[in-house]
Amino acid sequence: MRVVVSGGSGFLGSHLCEALLGRGDAVCCLDDFSTGRAANVAHLRTRPGFACVPCDVTEGVRVGGRVDAVMHLASPASPADYARRPLQTLAAGSRGTEHLLDLAVRHHARFVLASTSEVYGDPLVHPQREDHWGHVNPVGPRSAYDEAKRFAEALTTAYRTARGADTGIARIFNTYGPRMRPDDGRVVSTFVCQALAGRPLTVFGDGRQTRSFCYVDDLVRGLVALLDSGLDGPVNLGNPAECTVLALAELVLELTGAPGPVRRAPLPVDDPVRRRPDIGRARARLGWEPHVPLAEGLRRTIAHFTAARGAPEPAVGR
Ligand code: NAD
Ligand code: UDP
Repeated sequence: MRVVVSGGSGFLGSHLCEALLGRGDAVCCLDDFSTGRAANVAHLRTRPGFACVPCDVTEGVRVGGRVDAVMHLASPASPADYARRPLQTLAAGSRGTEHLLDLAVRHHARFVLASTSEVYGDPLVHPQREDHWGHVNPVGPRSAYDEAKRFAEALTTAYRTARGADTGIARIFNTYGPRMRPDDGRVVSTFVCQALAGRPLTVFGDGRQTRSFCYVDDLVRGLVALLDSGLDGPVNLGNPAECTVLALAELVLELTGAPGPVRRAPLPVDDPVRRRPDIGRARARLGWEPHVPLAEGLRRTIAHFTAARGAPEPAVGR
């Protein structure tokens, strides 16, 4: 297959490009390098079948040659990034999604949207199943991202019903691993970088809020399974092992041998209290489940950041 991956130079996108090339697909990566890095795919540039094209997908998408599948990952994704770029985030979810759906329709290609657990907002049911409609503040600090992704899901669904597009929607839960930016403000990259620098770990609020962290290799395997399936509706992709932010901080301190301590900082507005995917649909329809336990994934992530020493210091707090 020849697969177009928007956002292919980002954290998830670069691992996805690698996985697709690894199984013999050709990959055309489109990226504007706004939150991703060309260095993430530099090692792929000499691989046969790989192309990386600078492109802002909100302005239009032109791809020559055959296209068998389109995977739309281009969007600011960390809370710090989308807080800095709210208009670009809304444009990536709306105009960007439309341009990539048009590309898929023109080529009769399968389209996969990288959506998010954020469509559930601060969820009213726990764990979250795909039939939860969500609890989202449309005018809060997270709204540009949450509503962009909700609109992107609606647009993807409408292309399916109105234009006969072959579409799938991945609702991705917190994913971590090598190639996260040290300054993206996300909790795993921030804690690991703080620990390696011997600085206190910034725990927001009382640290009792939960997330469920999925290692990147597991997540990418799920995205590829969704691409290969005919599954149409949304499907949760994430690791159902739930963990408090405080427990994550303690685990990072244990694995790095850093002295700590943790430093409390204010909880951001609208920060979801609990988050954990119900992955029953992914198990049943894709035969997918994650395998990498949190401690093992963190060890690999810590090794990556240790090797990348000299990279910029992480943004502390928000
Ligand atoms: P990332 O910021 O590392 O990657 C996003 C990529 O998209 C970057 O390379 C960026 O330069 C590119 N991009 C942004 N706007 C663009 C535009 N207008 N045109 C072209 N390229 C553009 O983030 P990530 O964590 O790899 O996330 C990838 C996708 O997965 C995003 O759509 C995100 O919403 C979704 N997602 C990620 C997570 C996670 O935990 N990592 C969770 C849920 C959803
Ligand atoms: N968080 C924290 N310290 C940090 C960064 C984040 O305590 O330095 C918390 C944040 O408040 C949230 C959780 O960790 O409760 C996950 O935050 P992240 O930004 O990684 O992802 P999201 O909020 O989108 O799930």
